[in-house]
Amino acid sequence: MKTIQDFNFENKRALIRVDFNVPLNEKFEVTDSTRIESAKPTIIKVLEDGGSCVLMSHLGRPKGVQDEFSLKHIENAIEDIIGVELIIASDCIGEEVEVMAKNLKPGEILLLENLRFHKEETAGDKQFAEQLSKLGDIYVNDAFGTAHRAHASTTIVAKFFPENKCFGALLAQEIESIDKVMKTGEKPVLAVLGGAKVSSKITIIENILDKIDHLIIGGGMTFTFIKAQGGRIGNSICEDDKMELALNILKQAKEKNVQVHLPVDVLAANAFDNNANTQVVDVDSIPDGWQGLDTGPRSKMMFDEVVKQCKTILWNGPLGVFEMESFASGTIELGNSIVEATKNGAFSLVGGGDSVAAVKQFGFESKVSYVSTGGGAMLESLEGKTLPGIAAIMD
Ligand code: AMP
Repeated sequence: MKTIQDFNFENKRALIRVDFNVPLNEKFEVTDSTRIESAKPTIIKVLEDGGSCVLMSHLGRPKGVQDEFSLKHIENAIEDIIGVELIIASDCIGEEVEVMAKNLKPGEILLLENLRFHKEETAGDKQFAEQLSKLGDIYVNDAFGTAHRAHASTTIVAKFFPENKCFGALLAQEIESIDKVMKTGEKPVLAVLGGAKVSSKITIIENILDKIDHLIIGGGMTFTFIKAQGGRIGNSICEDDKMELALNILKQAKEKNVQVHLPVDVLAANAFDNNANTQVVDVDSIPDGWQGLDTGPRSKMMFDEVVKQCKTILWNGPLGVFEMESFASGTIELGNSIVEATKNGAFSLVGGGDSVAAVKQFGFESKVSYVSTGGGAMLESLEGKTLPGIAAIMD
């Protein structure tokens, strides 16, 4: 696996695919700059070597050229974080941009315009990729968030750099973190899967059963498993068409010696509302008209015990409706348990969608080993898929 550490960028132009697809408010201000900050180590390494950077990214889902999706809106945020004034291109391909890239001096950064202003980007167009390739001497992919897409700038462009291509620091760290769980994780290995639906996690569960010793299932997913086993789940969220599959997962887990931990009690509410009436009930005896919205107290203790025993922990999906304060404590307490385990030497990886939001909201981000920056890319990695953006560098 070649990373930026394997190259000296002195007098070289690094063509870096970053993921600057950051959220903007109505005044076009960046509301969360994590993705820009995550790309900083790679950019700084190139500049410190005495090289220059050509940064390329998409922003949002524009249909053709739309000013609201222009990367000029994030120019100031990038300059503040990187500490270097940017040179701004009005497009991402073409003669004018090629001249700008050619004239870059060591220490300078050229920011290309939104890649997705050209439909050829998402189509993975070879000619478009070739035009991009003219802008740099070494191709660096540091965009984990789009590594699961075979787009021109994430995958196809790598073909034009048979020798001179590598992973940026962020992408290398993402790959190493996933490997630490999926390949080289110190035992016992635990996966905590929560969130709303079993259907979105099936492939992950099936893929990780061979790699883990313990599986905690929580959140809304729980009730499909409980109902499938004959429990009464009241009005809790459930996917009836996935009950057979849930039973099959439990059977497979048993065969593979994976200990499955489902909640034994829940905090049930008489409405999907922060101010609803609540009561703690056994997970398989939820009265009609009530729905389980958070982990119950006995389950929290049980999960804490499991987490403490484990040396490698993967967490994907909240253990309750954490967006509502009344139903956030199951997710918070699990986070606390994982933080404790991490302090005691466990490796903890949080990845995929809402668990990342929860971890940030409750301040666990700096207290777990690694928080993935890519939702879909992380999920596909956990499903065991080879991401095209990663394969293109490995080739
Ligand atoms: P996912 O995107 O599959 O990880 O699902 C995340 C969503 O699951 C969050 O918005 C949570 O509010 C929701 N969720 C977690 N627990 C429950 C539950 N017991 N009932 C309904 N929704 C839940």
